[in-house]
Amino acid sequence: MSSTLQIKVPMESSYKEQAGRIYANLVKTDGLPLDHSDTTSDLTHKPQQFIASQCSSSTSTLVNESIHTVSSEDVPELHNDGPTEQTNRCIRILVSSKHLCFASPRFQEELLHLNTKAEPVNVLPCNLTDLNAVYILLNILHCRTRQVPRDINLNLLCMVAGLTQHYDCLEAVEAFARTWLENLQDCFPTACSHDLPQWMFIAWAFRHHGLFRLVTEIALRDSTEPIRTKGLAIPAGLIRTDRQTNLCNSSDLINKTRQFRIEEILISLYERMEYLLDHESCCSDCDQLMVGTLIHQLKPRKLFPPPQAPYKGLSLNAVLKTVNELKESRCKELVHGRVGCSGAKCWLIPETRTLLKRIDAEIVGLRLGDYLVD
Ligand SMILES: [Zn+2]
Ligand SMILES: [Zn+2]
Repeated sequence: MSSTLQIKVPMESSYKEQAGRIYANLVKTDGLPLDHSDTTSDLTHKPQQFIASQCSSSTSTLVNESIHTVSSEDVPELHNDGPTEQTNRCIRILVSSKHLCFASPRFQEELLHLNTKAEPVNVLPCNLTDLNAVYILLNILHCRTRQVPRDINLNLLCMVAGLTQHYDCLEAVEAFARTWLENLQDCFPTACSHDLPQWMFIAWAFRHHGLFRLVTEIALRDSTEPIRTKGLAIPAGLIRTDRQTNLCNSSDLINKTRQFRIEEILISLYERMEYLLDHESCCSDCDQLMVGTLIHQLKPRKLFPPPQAPYKGLSLNAVLKTVNELKESRCKELVHGRVGCSGAKCWLIPETRTLLKRIDAEIVGLRLGDYLVD
């Protein structure tokens, strides 16, 4: 039982440049064995450019034996707004329907669809731009595991994660994912960077609890604005989806937490300042010195006047560190001996310092289990 996966690669996208969306559809290929070798022709009359990089020999692997380009009349047009025939290369991969159905309910559905409807549909997720990811997945699903690389880079891993999620075939890919992530351990993020959403998605898609905790803690502590999903299917509510424009959107949990915690710290600071202005804490000399010391330190740190939500550019860690580093007033050496007050109430921001410790202890990475539905 076999089918053919026909893949359209935008011509302008060189394989390694990873530019341009790739489309694929399944067609029935009755009576052909999986390792059937077919003739090669090409839409663009430049088949070797692509094929050479993929399959230099003609034997022994799914990739090598089964990929070949086909002529345009053999290729049903995809019914979406994909690239036109002139801008595509077409590659055919002979696949085993049985293997695909066994590993993936999504493929099962696609193949069922194939039997009931004539029109081909795109079976690849929309953000797939690297065909290597498709080969890796197909080799895994066809148990040709010697063809599966043990080391892959972050971008490719992210695409394989996307395919795994798209075809709902985690069980088949999981063991490889563990190896890939083990081999990438030295590259795990240590600070908020542009690839944090990719790591978050990989951790989620491959159910890697430790990595998920790590990246979500980094995001909570170090992000200075909403983190964007970049089209990755990160669980709803964690970070901002590309379509959300409202900065205060309630579904953006990580950014909401950042804002809420910063606000807590600012409220505590300014309540202390108001208390010192409105009440007699120690003596008036000490109180005045404390208010002055507080404002004098907050102003150059851009915390006076108080910054306003959504606190763009402020990370929670930066606020924790800045406020924690505020120095006590000098009333002990300048006032106490002269006025005779005890100084017992002359701590600059005692409640805020307690709050800082509490927040620092409470901000930990999120539990992956809380975001899994299965
Ligand atoms: Zn005093
Ligand atoms: Zn004092």
